[in-house]
Amino acid sequence: MSGIVIVGAGQAGFQAAASLREAGAHAPITIVGEEPGLPYQRPPLSKAYLAGKSDAEALSLRPASYLAEHRITLRAGTRAAGIDRAARRLHLGAGGSLPYDHLVLATGARNKALPVPGAALDGVRQLRGLADADRLKADLAAAGRVAVVGAGFIGLEFAAVAAARGLAVTVVEATARPMARAVSREMGAFFRAAHEALGVRFAFEAGVEAIEGTGGQGTGGQETESRVTGLRLVGGETLPVDLVLVGIGVRPNQELAEEAGLAVSDGIRVDAFLATDDPAISAIGDCARFPSPFAQGLSPDGSTRIESVQNAIDQGRSLAARLTGRAAAYAAVPWFWSDQGRHKLQMAGLTAPDDASVVRGSGEAFSVFRFRNGALSGVESVNRAADHMIARRLLAAGTHLTPDQAADPGFDLKALAM
Ligand code: FAD
Repeated sequence: MSGIVIVGAGQAGFQAAASLREAGAHAPITIVGEEPGLPYQRPPLSKAYLAGKSDAEALSLRPASYLAEHRITLRAGTRAAGIDRAARRLHLGAGGSLPYDHLVLATGARNKALPVPGAALDGVRQLRGLADADRLKADLAAAGRVAVVGAGFIGLEFAAVAAARGLAVTVVEATARPMARAVSREMGAFFRAAHEALGVRFAFEAGVEAIEGTGGQGTGGQETESRVTGLRLVGGETLPVDLVLVGIGVRPNQELAEEAGLAVSDGIRVDAFLATDDPAISAIGDCARFPSPFAQGLSPDGSTRIESVQNAIDQGRSLAARLTGRAAAYAAVPWFWSDQGRHKLQMAGLTAPDDASVVRGSGEAFSVFRFRNGALSGVESVNRAADHMIARRLLAAGTHLTPDQAADPGFDLKALAM
């Protein structure tokens, strides 16, 4: 028996291995992971870990003893370089190959680079892995003026940590509001004000033309030794900075699948059971594009790709269930959280920017109920954990809720969700 080989020792890959063992799978399980060390969780990298409130050990998903006890072989620091589908072998970057009965692609995503001159200057950073977070922690200790490019979740979490350290932070964003693709105008406005109260400055509808550094700025990006000194915006203004965090989104790591002839389009294409068009290969987590009942009306074919811990965990579990004989279409309610300063944002469902909004609650604790074609599509809650839990139940059950009911503070949402 060749067993199950998992590419990617992240949240999804680790969960698939752990759930396979919990479900009683006996086959050998090998996880091939490019990063060094044990599988770890990424969310604290832009929150508690970056702020120095937790250490690297606390990031690990499980200790090494767990892997040994559950007969999960981890090949850390090993890159998977190619798939021979006919021979069912995974080729490793360092040489050699592993046979598989089933191959799981859990390769995650990588950050998009900012396509401007100067993007390779020292002090222009990204945040995806532990090594990035460690470098940023050192940078924050030495920096005075920081620019964040992109007002998405990671950029804003980073901005909040930097501002709390007393640094001067400017967030440069191409659209007109924070988290524009992900949250309502109401929620965006709340978080804009919350960040401004921390001292964060925003430049909206602003583009970056170039990043300037010591020693002059050429066009070839070759002066990697020199350090960032400024962020030049379209229109001419230059922000003097010592540190730039680029947070403009990610690309799925789909090349292994693509080169092996599997279908990809902004993600590795899988069916409702998370299988690719090769029945011996599945894909889960940030790298997978799958059909979702919650994505109807959001994309032409009702497929989506989700970057969240919930999705990585639930897809790992769902795949393990299928591989141990309990196949069910993946239909978990998407949910997500983001901690920015002292505020916790929680989201359930999948929304489009023009979904209708109904606000429940006020001040620093409220929820925005979103509706698409008259049906509840998602709920964004700030400092209202109970609403979030109710929203997950309503969405899971497909319970009908009207905008008037959502807006009525006297309406018993909890009873409806029971
Ligand atoms: P990953 O965790 O990225 O793991 C993929 C792994 O595959 C990586 O280790 C990569 O090195 C490896 N790999 C890729 N290609 C190869 C190859 N060819 N060979 C070997 N290994 C390979 N989500 C939330 O829900 N809430 C949050 O608050 C939140 N905060 C976040 C903060 C940060 C800073 C980041 C980066 C992400 C955050 N996320 C959050 C998103 C969440 O962490 C991801 O959705 C989740 O980690 C996805 O899991 P994954 O296993 O699909 O991918």
